[in-house]
Amino acid sequence: MFFLDRLDLDRRFRLLRKEIEAKGISEELRGWNFDSPPIEPLSRSILFGVGELAMRYCESMRDIYLRRILNIKPPPTIKMARGIALHSISREVLNAAKRSFFSGNYRSGSELAEGLLSLTHGIVDKAISETENVLSSKMGEVEEYQLKVEATALYRFLVIQAAARIDQAISKYPHSDADSIINVALPPVVERKVDGSLVGLSRELSVDIYTPFNALADLKTGEVREFHPYAATGYALAIEAEEGTPVDFGFIVYIQILTHRLVPSFRLRYFVIGDELRREFLELRDEAYEIVSIGKDPGRPPRCPSYCPYYTICTREKC
Ligand code: SF4
Repeated sequence: MFFLDRLDLDRRFRLLRKEIEAKGISEELRGWNFDSPPIEPLSRSILFGVGELAMRYCESMRDIYLRRILNIKPPPTIKMARGIALHSISREVLNAAKRSFFSGNYRSGSELAEGLLSLTHGIVDKAISETENVLSSKMGEVEEYQLKVEATALYRFLVIQAAARIDQAISKYPHSDADSIINVALPPVVERKVDGSLVGLSRELSVDIYTPFNALADLKTGEVREFHPYAATGYALAIEAEEGTPVDFGFIVYIQILTHRLVPSFRLRYFVIGDELRREFLELRDEAYEIVSIGKDPGRPPRCPSYCPYYTICTREKC
């Protein structure tokens, strides 16, 4: 991704490759083996979103029961709003940068930056209203203001990074056309669509970033949680099933915006999408299927984390 240091990424992937050489990834756990266990889903009629399985706030999987059987959505929170809005900003920056540069109206990254920075308010407002539509809920004034500050900071930061990358590419390859410059400077795809139905996942999954290094990345806007690598694992299985190409590495980009600095900071977590993660993700998928097919409440786990999106619902003890 354009705000990540390419050299740093290369070094990390070198280390991860060594880990794969030492441990390997079992053939039976590759997504392309979707017609035999353990990859083969117990049913192809009940499909799960990757986030639905991967966001393991709830050890007993009661969240699956609440969502799928009782049809209860978790109440919207500022954390959810932040996630949706900042994802929308990342996508919009890349799309706007590519569209604008291809249009031929800009000759350099710096000109492009001036053009895109003038669109800040429109793009941030669009991200906020998209967020409210997804959550079917209007934000309070204070939350909306805070989110606008964060979205604006991320937008402006990414525009500057994209513009700098474009100028570096032009400087290095002065005779290249717009297509080549964009190809060198910016990540090829964000929010890449994948059909996960061969492995029991939704038909239109959206992978945050898919890179040419057999790696994919997931953007997170909240706290670091142990279960976050599951999402990359689900996407890896879906891509392997659909394309037949291996996806060996995952990384998670945690975005944090301290409003007094107005500059986002990024923390990265790298990992091999190895056997253990694959097995655990498949177990979650199969367990979720059992809950949905039987329709029985699995009950609450011994401990409900207060950050669980269903916390206010379950602790009211009404369902
Ligand atoms: S509040 Fe507890 S039981 Fe309810 S979904 Fe969250 S972790 Fe599970």
